[in-house]
This record gives sequence, structure tokens and C-alpha cells, in this order.
Amino acid sequence: ETTAQWQKNLIKQDEIDRYLSSGKDFIDDEAIENEIKANSSASPERIREIVKKAFDIKLMDSADVAALLSVTDPALKEEIFAAAREIKMKVYDKRVVTFAPLYCSSKCVNACSYCGFRCGNEAIERRVLSLDEVEAEARVLASKIGHKRLVMVYGEHPDTDADYIAETMCRVYSIKDPVRGGVGEIRRVNINAAPLPIEGLVKLREAGIGTYQVFQETYHHDTYRKVHPEGTLKGNYPWRLYALHRAMDAGIDDVAVGALFGLYDWKFEVMGLVAHARDLEKRFGLGPHTVSVPRLEPAADTDFSWVKHWVSDEDFRYLIAVIRLAIPYAGLIVTNREKPEMIRSVIKMCTQRDADTRVGIGAYSDAFPETEAGAINHQQEEKQQFMLGDTRSLDAIIRELVDMGHIVSFCTAGYRCGRTGKKIMDALSSGQEGCFCKLNAVLTFQEWLEDFATGDTKEKGSKIIDKEMEEIRARVPADFSKAQLEHLEKGLLRIR
Ligand code: SAM
Ligand code: SF4
Repeated sequence: ETTAQWQKNLIKQDEIDRYLSSGKDFIDDEAIENEIKANSSASPERIREIVKKAFDIKLMDSADVAALLSVTDPALKEEIFAAAREIKMKVYDKRVVTFAPLYCSSKCVNACSYCGFRCGNEAIERRVLSLDEVEAEARVLASKIGHKRLVMVYGEHPDTDADYIAETMCRVYSIKDPVRGGVGEIRRVNINAAPLPIEGLVKLREAGIGTYQVFQETYHHDTYRKVHPEGTLKGNYPWRLYALHRAMDAGIDDVAVGALFGLYDWKFEVMGLVAHARDLEKRFGLGPHTVSVPRLEPAADTDFSWVKHWVSDEDFRYLIAVIRLAIPYAGLIVTNREKPEMIRSVIKMCTQRDADTRVGIGAYSDAFPETEAGAINHQQEEKQQFMLGDTRSLDAIIRELVDMGHIVSFCTAGYRCGRTGKKIMDALSSGQEGCFCKLNAVLTFQEWLEDFATGDTKEKGSKIIDKEMEEIRARVPADFSKAQLEHLEKGLLRIR
């Protein structure tokens, strides 16, 4: 099969049509623009009412989201930031989850104007990792850095089809590294890959996919057409828009939305993300597991002079607060595209961040070669999709998170015990998940500290765990049983 034939056969029109209503998708550009305008002068009283309602942990009405987006008064914005931090605490407690991306390939048939990996960009070295190379990368991540969760990332190309994605995922799960008493294992693999047909998605489900992420990039149809040339696979807007619907139909119940901020008006994109969550809820009774907010970054030999909607730092922080309130049950991911100061200023509204990130193909093995000589620790523009803002180690990032009062959770038990999809969402919305996860977070964090922490990270981490334990003890028997507490104390003693 040639690349052209592969592309022609990939998109299944009937797998788009089944979700359209009267031939239309659920994003009505004009209606969104009108709603933003119609709610652009909401009174502070109305804003406060909306904020209050957000504490019910339900998806917000689109008119209310539009009203929040219109706020410019700094004092009122401060109230919204405070509410966003409180809602994060209510649903997810002080936990922050860390992960790392593993880029498997840089070959891509698409021509997204903002991406270094776009076809025809000769500044990029094209590579598809072999299964052995994928394993080598995963071993570095699991036993040298100490990650337990990955998001594996792929360009769109016949060499990296659903079978390749499934095989690479299985290979990562297969490592049970004896280094440091067997701690070197990856417990959860999320996937960020181009939209697949249902048949391909079933393969990913069978290989044990965690969350399936597909970012719409921009919800605005005209802008979408401009940045994704017609005739390319990615040029098909509804195929991408319904990628997560197909995933749900394929039995993958944790799906993740995202928009690439900078392509179009950020207010429109937030409305799009909420509309996406609403359509998923309407059809499947379940919204997105996480929301990602990538912001445009420089990439090798990539011209950005056409960009008219760069998002300022202030607007970026605010849009994160609005998403926190609008889709309050969802995890919110901020990535190392951003600089440390930016991440620090939003992390209390977010639930996940990456750490020790390398986005070059094969870059983890380059940075931790078998022999110390020759380690490459700088960014390699020619191998990366875009450049990073934060390249600190997991250890340094954990130290910072602990200093800010966070517990870093390496727990993936929810997935092994079937707490995914609707079950976890119901638990999150009712506040129950906070309790479940609190216990596991303590144990898995202590485990990481013992195995990987350097310098004073272990001492600092253990202190915050002690504080957490006091809180847990005080909540017996209201939220925790005596048996749970005993189990936890014993577990901690054993690890320590
Ligand atoms: N090729 C797949 C796709 O497009 O869905 C896999 C994901 S791509 C490698 C990961 C994400 O990176 C894209 O969905 C996009 O949002 C983001 N991205 C692409 N170029 C970027 C840039 N210059 N700056 C920041 N993020 C970018
Ligand atoms: Fe390819 Fe994804 Fe980059 Fe587009 S964003 S060029 S699809 S890797």
C-alpha cells in the first residue's frame, strides 16, 4: 500500500456521519461568537453567582462561561482565581501528578503550519523508533528518572499506524526493570496520536491505553482550514472533532481534549472546549478525563509571522482559571512548553504537569547513555516538534512542588481497580476520590522518595507526607476507616 492509498483509506466517512446532526458538527462558530458578545458585560453579581454554582462540580452553561470570559476587573478576576484554586482542592486535593512524554516518531504526512514535524520541513531529522529503542527510552524514564506515567506521542504516518502504536505501548508495559528492586516500571501509558478509526482504537484499548488525547488545535472552522491544508488527513475537521467520540465507542473511556492556544481567539477556544465536553457528556454520559492547554512555541524553521492571536501570560493564566471552573471535574494539564515561573503561577489550579521532559526522538537515551560520557542534555532543535520552556529534572520539580505544599502522586491504582471513566468521574464530582487517592498518593510518593530522591528532596517530601498523615488521622472515622489508617501506617513503615 502506498502512502497515498493509506491516507485515502484511513478516514471512514460513516464514522463521521454517525455523529453529525443534519450534516453539521456541534461547533457553531457564529453561535459561539454571538454568545461571547451577548455576555460581554455581565455584572459582578452575576459573575459571583456563576462562581458559586461552579462548586457543584458540574459542566458550566455556555452563557455562563462566556460571562466569565468577559471579566476584566482585576479584583473580580482575583476572586475567580481563588475559586479555581479552591475547586482544584475540593476535587483533587493537594495532589499533582507528574508524567513525561515519550516521542516515538517524527515522520508526518500532515502540514500543520505551526509544527516542526510538518512534512517538507527539512530542518527536522526524521526517525521512527524501533521497538528496542522505545524500550530503551522507557527504561531510562522508569529506572533512571523514576517516572510511572507516560504520554507516548506520534506523528501521523503509515509507519506509525495503530499496530505500531499498540506494539510500542505493549513494549513499554513489558519492562519490569530489576534495577532498584523492581521499581523501574511504567504503570500507565497515555497516547497522543492522530485520530484513528474505531478499528484502530479497539487495538489501542486492547493494548492497555490509559487516556487517549487528541487536541482539536482550534475549534474555529476557518482557522482550522488555514493552518491544516486541505487534502491532508488533518485537514478533515470533523474526523478530528469526533476522534474522542469514536474512542468512547471503541470502549476507551478516558479521553482528553485540548486546544493549541494562539491559533485563534482564546475565548472562542475555551467555548469550544466546553462545547466538546458537553457533546461527550450528552452522548456518552461522561466528559473528558483531562483538558490540555498547549500554547504556541517556536519550532525549527517554522514561520510564525502569520499568528495574530498570541495569548498573553495574563490571558493564559485567566483562561486556565475559567476552564477550572467550567469543566470542574476534569484534570487540567500544564506542560513544559511553559517556563517555570508560568507553571508555578498556575499549578494550584492544575492537576498534572510533565517533568524531566525531552521531546526529541530518542532524547532520553541521549541524555542518559549507558556510559556517562557524551550525555546530551541540551535541547536538540532538529529533533524536536517545538522548543521547551522548562527542562528541569523530576527531582528538582518535585522539590519545588513540595515547597509549594503539594503531594506528588505516582498512584495508578485507580486504573488497575477499574476506577476509570464514569466511575472515577462520579467519585471526583462527589469528593470521594479525594479520600481514595489521598491514601495511595502518600504511599506512592514515599516510594518514589525512597527510590529516586536526591539532596534534601527526600527530607522535604517526607515532612509533607507526615503533615498529610496528621490530616488523615484527624479524619478517622469521618472519611477514613481505622483499618484504612492502619494499612497506611504499616505501608509507610515498610517503605521507610
Ligand atoms: N501528530 C499528532 C497530532 O497532531 O495529533 C500527535 C500530536 S502532536 C505531536 C502533539 C501536539 O503538540 C499537537 O496536538 C499540538 O497541539 C501541539 N503542538 C504542535 N506544534 C506545536 C508548537 N509549535 N508549539 C506548541 N505545541 C505544539
Ligand atoms: Fe504532524 Fe501532529 Fe505536527 Fe501536525 S501537529 S505536523 S499532525 S506531528
